[in-house]
Amino acid sequence: MSTRSTDSARPRRQALSAEGISKTFGNSASAHRVLRDVDLRIEPGEFVCIVGPSGAGKTTLLRALSGLAVPSTGTVRLGDRVVTEPQAEIGVVFQDYRGSLMPWMRVCDNVAFPLEGRGVPRRERRSRAEEALTSVGLADVGRKYPWQLSGGMQQRVAIARGLAYESSILVMDEPFGSVDAQTRFELEDLTLALRARFGITIIVVTHDIDEAVYLSDRVVVLSGKPATVVETVDVGLGGERDQLLTRAEPEFTRLRTHILGRIRGDGAPERATKVESAALGSE
Ligand code: ADP
Repeated sequence: MSTRSTDSARPRRQALSAEGISKTFGNSASAHRVLRDVDLRIEPGEFVCIVGPSGAGKTTLLRALSGLAVPSTGTVRLGDRVVTEPQAEIGVVFQDYRGSLMPWMRVCDNVAFPLEGRGVPRRERRSRAEEALTSVGLADVGRKYPWQLSGGMQQRVAIARGLAYESSILVMDEPFGSVDAQTRFELEDLTLALRARFGITIIVVTHDIDEAVYLSDRVVVLSGKPATVVETVDVGLGGERDQLLTRAEPEFTRLRTHILGRIRGDGAPERATKVESAALGSE
């Protein structure tokens, strides 16, 4: 995946922005307003996590940013272009690999499949899929079927599919929510490594505040009903992250405590525990 051909084929990097977007579901008789006046600008190459209480509208915002849903009011822009439909530049990885990979297709074909719709010739589809699988550490599994792989490996396949699309922006909705804790750490580090290697923009929705702080350059905090951006928090933990060392830093604890307070709407609390943090996201 790091070959020159693939990197040069990756589209021009552009900022992605939400300008005053709101989203209401239902009709006038039973309207359910989920998002209100969300303003957000994500620069090329940034790693941004979106956090907020369960049901706040994180997925709804992510769908609008990726062109999978159109906001009720306001505009999403990729560079100068208004986004109203899925974009070639934006790859999407969903939480549940079981629902997003096709069990009757070999792994390689799963990764190559979206490229067919873009008219990429067969031979190139195959080579791009192989490169993408190599970049997520799965060079040898292309001939297998998804159900022959572990959950963590299947989610790597889903990430490879987003990369093979040659997107400059990878949008991920609770991407590590369906795997065990150890695999989750591995996938977090893989995602950081892919950002460092390819310079792509990565936007992750997560209910796990610790994960958001660990991964991000900035954390966008959504709260309220309807939800809006209550704060965008800069994460000054440096470029090199380490699962043990970074999470033990006092600044890490300060950030997670601050963010938890903003989500609860009660300012930065004196004490915040991992249990409280996890409970916020429980469905
Ligand atoms: P989060 O990702 O923060 O958990 P969601 O964006 O999934 O929140 O959902 C926010 C709210 O919008 C929820 O109350 C959900 O039921 C509602 N919602 C989401 N999608 C739809 C839809 N297609 N139709 C109606 N309501 C929806």
